[in-house]
Amino acid sequence: MPANKKLLVLPGDGIGPEVMREVRRVIDWMDRRRMVTFEMSEDLVGGASLDARGVPIAEETMEKARDADAILFGSVGGPKWDALGFDKRPEISILRLRKELDLFANLRPAIVLDPLVDASTLKPDVIRGLDLMIVRESTGGIYFGTPRGIETLPNGEQRGYDTESYTTGEIERVARVGFELARKRQNRLCSVEKANVMQSGLFWRQTVTALHQREFADVELSHMYADNCAMQLVRNPRQFDVIVTSNIFGDILSDLASMLTGSLGMLPSATLGAVQSSGKRHALYEPIHGSAPDIAGKGIANPMAQILSFAMLLRFSFGMDEDAALIERACTNVLGSGLRTADVMAVGTARVGTSVMGEAIIRELDKLV
Ligand code: NAD
Repeated sequence: MPANKKLLVLPGDGIGPEVMREVRRVIDWMDRRRMVTFEMSEDLVGGASLDARGVPIAEETMEKARDADAILFGSVGGPKWDALGFDKRPEISILRLRKELDLFANLRPAIVLDPLVDASTLKPDVIRGLDLMIVRESTGGIYFGTPRGIETLPNGEQRGYDTESYTTGEIERVARVGFELARKRQNRLCSVEKANVMQSGLFWRQTVTALHQREFADVELSHMYADNCAMQLVRNPRQFDVIVTSNIFGDILSDLASMLTGSLGMLPSATLGAVQSSGKRHALYEPIHGSAPDIAGKGIANPMAQILSFAMLLRFSFGMDEDAALIERACTNVLGSGLRTADVMAVGTARVGTSVMGEAIIRELDKLV
């Protein structure tokens, strides 16, 4: 089959290259067993790029990113670069990619796999079978709004302030992602804001409601205040299918939801841009964990979050739902067989390192096809 899927792989720092190695095996497996070929290139990013090129991400890498159909990102940063000025830090690379590719919709699934039901701090009865998706607006809102600053008042006191602001277009495009996702799942979208105390929240609610009536009346829409949503996520998380919310509420609620599932090493994410006139949509996929400098180089990192990020890439950038599901199934089965990396160990399971886990996933994939 011709290679028509341009993939840019950016492993980054710390455990990034270690877990990405296991994704490469899955990609090779797909080439061999599923006849799917990617046009792949790999490049430096973060601290690795700073060391080699003096910048967190080089112009030529940005160019490759613009040209790619999808980007698979590892993680960046570590103590070696912590003392650098803000404009030089490894994290600038991911911020620049998000900004310049206008990646505005951050998708964070919170799924509780059966074998890991005991890894959550919540009771198994509450979280068994959990499968929700949080869509967070990620380029607007209070993290970017102006005016912002710290100023000295005439009375000598100081004042710090930020601005929460959203335009119709910003709300509609992220809500559209939420509605479209809901249609492919259980057809339920919950829009979250603080319409009771914030003008921008009221505007968010009005805009989502109008869009719903115009384009998505077939989807079940509900609205919830962000504080209530935090409570409901802990009380009864399975009531949700897809949640769509602003940058700051999404930041907090998606971290909360992640922890319902028990381990950082298991959690993938996607960040999508707008669909362009050519039909192409920029998209970046990455695990939610960082570069884990405390375990880097030890060969013990859990590669599943990175592999599951690749599964999301197949589903959202290439419409390869069946292959994505196969990879997800393989990960679940391997966990079910009792093989675990240290971060998800439980009584009665066997501890393995990164590459043995990768091999086990490939063996399972072989079994499944
Ligand atoms: P972290 O996610 O790297 O690690 C937190 C804890 O979880 C550590 O104990 C780590 O060992 C463990 N952990 C993380 N991923 C794991 C995996 N796959 N398998 C097993 N254990 C895993 O967060 P941190 O320690 O706060 O940050 C470390 C560095 O990563 C910092 O420089 C930070 O800026 C950076 N970071 C980068 C990104 C990114 O690239 N998008 C995201 C978060 C943090």
